[in-house]
Amino acid sequence: MIQTYARPATLQEALDLLADPHAAVLAGGTDLNGDAAGAPKIAVDLQDLGLSGIDTDGSTLRIGAMTTLQDLVDATDAPSLLRELAHREAPSTIRNAATVGGTIGSSDPESELLAGLLLFDAAVALATATGSAEVRLDDLLDDPTALVGSIITSVTLSTSGATAADRTGRTPMDRPIVMVAGRLASDGIARLVATGVASRPVVIDPNRMDDLEPPADFRGSSEYRRHLAGVLADRIVERLEGGRA
Ligand SMILES: Cc1cc2nc3c(=O)[nH]c(=O)nc-3n(C[C@H](O)[C@H](O)[C@H](O)COP(=O)(O)OP(=O)(O)OC[C@H]3O[C@@H](n4cnc5c(N)ncnc54)[C@H](O)[C@@H]3O)c2cc1C
Repeated sequence: MIQTYARPATLQEALDLLADPHAAVLAGGTDLNGDAAGAPKIAVDLQDLGLSGIDTDGSTLRIGAMTTLQDLVDATDAPSLLRELAHREAPSTIRNAATVGGTIGSSDPESELLAGLLLFDAAVALATATGSAEVRLDDLLDDPTALVGSIITSVTLSTSGATAADRTGRTPMDRPIVMVAGRLASDGIARLVATGVASRPVVIDPNRMDDLEPPADFRGSSEYRRHLAGVLADRIVERLEGGRA
């Protein structure tokens, strides 16, 4: 349960507070506040640190960690697929509070937005007690220990290339059972990511779908999800390589 609320005015002050093992970053609070039992004793609110906003130089996009999902939906400079995935993440009440940094921090196993950030090869900027660091999102999802005592300050991604996504769910607005998104990079090769086929959003190889070992649940067995991922991946590759994305 949260016992102390801190609202630091500088990044250094926030990092000093996070040196306490009972402290955790508070961003939009949509995930953190929902878990009363697991909540930290000290919540370190980042809202005064100026970490929101989106900038682009035409080929790369930098998204501040405190940018809300709704701000990303509204960002006309951002790739349309990323805006769509941010929109699909949650209803508007949640999107207006939840942040891009918090989406990475909570690392929901089926997050379509996380999959989208992976697709654009996102790099995550971290402020740590020993200085700043940059880590690929893919590596951070593999080993989230880098987040302990650290603050995500921004995410940078390369925005080039045609994209497409497809999914199957119980209803159109339900979380997909499996979602596959693809991007045709400058070398002409389609790169794919998926949700619902592993314990986190992953990069997949359309030629090695048999290697996937999806987790089963009441919405679909492992075999069903593997088959679904193959069908969706074929569809996306055909759309991208056929120029119909
Ligand atoms: C009704 C509802 C529906 C939801 N649907 C989805 C969904 O479909 N997909 C999905 O992925 N999530 C979903 N969520 C979960 C949650 O809303 C999102 O993961 C959200 O993006 C979290 O962002 P936040 O800013 O609110 O994070 P917070 O709740 O403030 O923080 C979440 C975690 O990230 C850490 N954190 C936050 N910001 C940073 C930072 N800058 N640096 C380091 N660590 C940080 C926090 O310490 C905490 O551990 C849903 C939640 C609700 C209530």
